[in-house]
Amino acid sequence: MIEFAHAYKVYPGTSAPIHALKDVNLRIEKGEFVYLTGPSGAGKTTLFRLLSAYDRATSGNVRVSGYELSKITKREVQLFRRHLGVVYQDFRLLKRRTVYENVSLPLEIRSERQRYIKERTEEVLDQVDLLHKKSEFPSQLSGGEQQRVAIARALIHHPDVLLADEPTGNLDPELSREIIAIFEKINAQGTTVFVATHDFELIKNRARRTVEIQNGVIVRSE
Ligand code: ADP
Ligand code: MG
Repeated sequence: MIEFAHAYKVYPGTSAPIHALKDVNLRIEKGEFVYLTGPSGAGKTTLFRLLSAYDRATSGNVRVSGYELSKITKREVQLFRRHLGVVYQDFRLLKRRTVYENVSLPLEIRSERQRYIKERTEEVLDQVDLLHKKSEFPSQLSGGEQQRVAIARALIHHPDVLLADEPTGNLDPELSREIIAIFEKINAQGTTVFVATHDFELIKNRARRTVEIQNGVIVRSE
């Protein structure tokens, strides 16, 4: 499902090249729930950028949902991204659009039928318990609610994989636990979930597979 094989990422850097990922080998099966931990600057976001085809490995292979991302064309990237839902630390919602509009936008762009758009949008809003706030604007919601809207939007295309890069970075511990509970529910319904966080406190005692990265090297993978 997700496979890194001898993946390296080197950024040019200003004075010297930055070796952000070094010989990354990793396999995540369909339906797994995996945390990616490691201190700030370790390479978590870089790894997620390769996984979501926002950037390419300098060498090595990255395979996701049957796509070989080191060889993918621009056209294929659009198709590939439908297999993927991505959630960020800063929510990335459109301020002038309602909750409903933020979540339905990816379907509107694809010109899906209005009846399907309404059904699917309400279904994912219900999954994150926010159907009752569908007409509100992001500024009227708490941080935790805004992140739940972002999760609903990430689910809209029935992704195989949900990636979340520091999804609780802007939230207090209680709301963070709430977000993790939603990811666990989504995973229980079959979606592969991969969550990057430097918050060790949040994930300790969670009995989930944890991949740890330090200085671009995977130091723990079970
Ligand atoms: P993390 O998400 O674990 O905090 P990152 O993947 O963001 O780590 O960064 C890993 C390393 O790569 C850091 O040294 C960072 O400064 C560097 N880096 C990240 N993105 C870029 C970039 N676009 N250009 C140059 N260096 C970068
Ligand atoms: Mg990061």
